[in-house]
Amino acid sequence: MSHLFKNYQSLDVTFSHGEGVWLWDTEGKQYLDALGGIAVTSLGHAHPRLVKAVAEQAARYLHCSNIYRIPEQEKLADRLCRLSGMERAFFCNSGTEANEAAIKLARLHGHAKGIDVPTVIVTEGAFHGRTLAALAATANAKAKVGFEPLPERFLRVPFGDSEAVAELASDSQVCAVLVEPIQGEGGINIPPAGYLQQLRKICDDNGWLLMLDEIQTGVARSGRWFACQHEDVLPDVMTLAKGLGGGVPVGAVLASGVASELFGPGSHGSTFGGNPLACTAAMTVLESIEGAGLCSNAAAMGEHMLNGLKTQLGDLPGVVDIRGCGLLLAVELDRAAAPLVKTALEAGLLINVTAGNVVRLLPPLTITREEADEVLARLCPLINTFLQEEAA
Ligand SMILES: *Cc1c(COP(=O)(O)O)cnc(C)c1O
Repeated sequence: MSHLFKNYQSLDVTFSHGEGVWLWDTEGKQYLDALGGIAVTSLGHAHPRLVKAVAEQAARYLHCSNIYRIPEQEKLADRLCRLSGMERAFFCNSGTEANEAAIKLARLHGHAKGIDVPTVIVTEGAFHGRTLAALAATANAKAKVGFEPLPERFLRVPFGDSEAVAELASDSQVCAVLVEPIQGEGGINIPPAGYLQQLRKICDDNGWLLMLDEIQTGVARSGRWFACQHEDVLPDVMTLAKGLGGGVPVGAVLASGVASELFGPGSHGSTFGGNPLACTAAMTVLESIEGAGLCSNAAAMGEHMLNGLKTQLGDLPGVVDIRGCGLLLAVELDRAAAPLVKTALEAGLLINVTAGNVVRLLPPLTITREEADEVLARLCPLINTFLQEEAA
């Protein structure tokens, strides 16, 4: 009997090591990793520069506590703020913790404005994490079963509909909007052009915080450093995690303007958050992205893969939509697609299915044209066969 909780339904495969976009299992079989641990291994596996930086930091010191100044943390905050246009950073260890901190900022902001029950607008299809407040902000009803009572005061509107947000301006308790620029777990849902700019204006008009969850879209994944930069929008709060550490757990909350002054001494914290190892890893990821031009690589390879998917699958009955932005790519089918994950695994390809019927690709930002073509060469025939064999 396994002594692990039964909360994951893991596939029956064990990896021994990786290199770049490749992983090998303990039997020696090779896999093309088009999922990157769900947008985490942004530099691929065993990236020499990241391996070296982590090893050298481990040899210096791993941890010391936020009771002391941590230069690695200050440097990372500087770099993230320079890249994003934000002003201050708080570091934590995961996405859900980053959103939890963002929700706490919203509450502080609300109370500072004299609001009794600060209320945050969130969207249908949203995923913000698994701690209680992040779960409350998440849309998926199944994920919440049994965990009630959840923190209250989240108002849900359709994703991509700025009118629905504007209509809530009559609610005097609203103090913030929390939204993903592109929904990840919800199925790589891309909002209409101008959505973030419209949200920015509504928030400005009402004194609300615009809080963008860039945990999946951030750190070059969308082809820009942050997805909000496609629309030239500066949020008040931005949350990051996943790809930021390239596989080392690190999350961040960036804030600008009033939001950056809300946390005072003792108001928030984390034992591990921003520790020297995590910050060194994240700094190395940022430097490697900058040094190797991986933002433009993500944009170019994303476009190349999107075009390839459209050419090879676009006309198949059963394919509802093919969409993407940078290296966030999706093939939406007209039927439950979960079995494809296992068939792909057998064919030596790591992919994932989200929202039930959406095949999702989140390959490393380092992917080359040849590797991108190999992903398509392995994936497209599988989807073709699947659609012929599996009933709609
Ligand atoms: C993955 C994800 C989270 C949760 O991050 P964890 O590190 O798993 O807690 C939150 N928001 C978005 C958009 C995500 O993709």
